Amino acid sequence: MSAADTSSQGASPSAGLTSAEVARARADTPGCARVTHFNNAGASLMPRQVIDATTRHLLLEADIGGYEAAAEAHERIESVYDSAARLLGCHRDEIALMDSATRAWDMAFYAIPFRPGDRVLTSMAEYASNYIAYLQIAERHGVRIDVVPNDEHGQLSIDALRAAIDERVRVISLTHVPTNGGLVNPAAEVGKIAREAGALYLLDACQSVGQLDVDVAEIGCDMLSTTGRKYLRGPRGTGLLYVRREVLEQLTPPMLDLHAATWTARDRYEMRPDARRFETWEANYAALLGLGAAVDHALGWGLPRIQARVTSLAGTLREHLAGIRGVHVRDLGVQRCGIVTFTVDGVDGVEPAQVKSDLAEQRINISVSRPPSTRLDMEDRGLSSLLRASVHYYNTDEEIAALARAVRACLG
Ligand SMILES: *Cc1c(COP(=O)(O)O)cnc(C)c1O
Repeated sequence: MSAADTSSQGASPSAGLTSAEVARARADTPGCARVTHFNNAGASLMPRQVIDATTRHLLLEADIGGYEAAAEAHERIESVYDSAARLLGCHRDEIALMDSATRAWDMAFYAIPFRPGDRVLTSMAEYASNYIAYLQIAERHGVRIDVVPNDEHGQLSIDALRAAIDERVRVISLTHVPTNGGLVNPAAEVGKIAREAGALYLLDACQSVGQLDVDVAEIGCDMLSTTGRKYLRGPRGTGLLYVRREVLEQLTPPMLDLHAATWTARDRYEMRPDARRFETWEANYAALLGLGAAVDHALGWGLPRIQARVTSLAGTLREHLAGIRGVHVRDLGVQRCGIVTFTVDGVDGVEPAQVKSDLAEQRINISVSRPPSTRLDMEDRGLSSLLRASVHYYNTDEEIAALARAVRACLG
């Protein structure tokens, strides 16, 4: 984790961004004037720069035609790959622009040439869509799924992972930050083990990219997927896939089209040599340009500074919530991020959905996590639901206090 740069003037008590910068971030975010947004793990509020980049291209398509607009925006579209590569610390030919994190993850996972007897090692924090894919692959190819248990802190146990390794492990497939909690799994330690074992390493970084300083070389993953709409603050319907150059040749996308491959003769095709073999020809360029603007925006603040601010705000929120009678903060792990989860007792048992809708009436956005999204973890902890308040760097201490007050009021 990098230290926060709070050396500039006007540093707020919260680390990472100065109060003047937070004010600027909020002024650049139209939604901040309308809602108190703590659903950043669902979809963050887009900054003006993202909205402009997206709508400008949509209007250009309307003005001159979709193909003509793509041609005119060619260089800007190409530069989205450079921005994404800078964000993740990789090369531009290792990036594919996708329409969701799930499709990005699927294209990588289903490209692995599984054989009967292969093993998939995964974590307790696994996201449902990933686990459903494991189950399908297990059925289809006779692959075994092994869930590595957590350690005493509730993060993936490195010792248990090491003990689980053998030559049949085809892939270690892990969720970096789960959808339902502040946990940050020890991704870089897993990377070392994967490398030693000669296993592929796929990281679902859907909730970490944009709030943490995620670097694929530091982590040592072979493949990484993420979304645009969550902590990156991009438009919906966007995602990123990273595939390391050295593993690209081992991976055949489950589907190919005339962009991913070229039809070179009646009975032949050639796959693209770069990560764009995972893309499709058709793309929502307005949204992808918005994604590029979102990445540039995050890079402009600096990910270590965003991380420091988000981590600090989340810590403040956990303190507030822990101070309310009948509220229990449920986040696991050694390192914790911007996702804050909690349960409430209530006198007659307050329904989580009721808390969410009570807050929504005051235009405070939070969400509810349930077992079908992260079944292993929720069942293991005996939880039927969790309230999730996910902070971003544009949230303020005042908003956190308002959220805590509103939760307190729900409990009567
Ligand atoms: C949201 C989420 C996904 C899915 O992202 P989409 O963009 O909706 O496909 C995958 N993994 C985790 C951990 C998530 O939180």
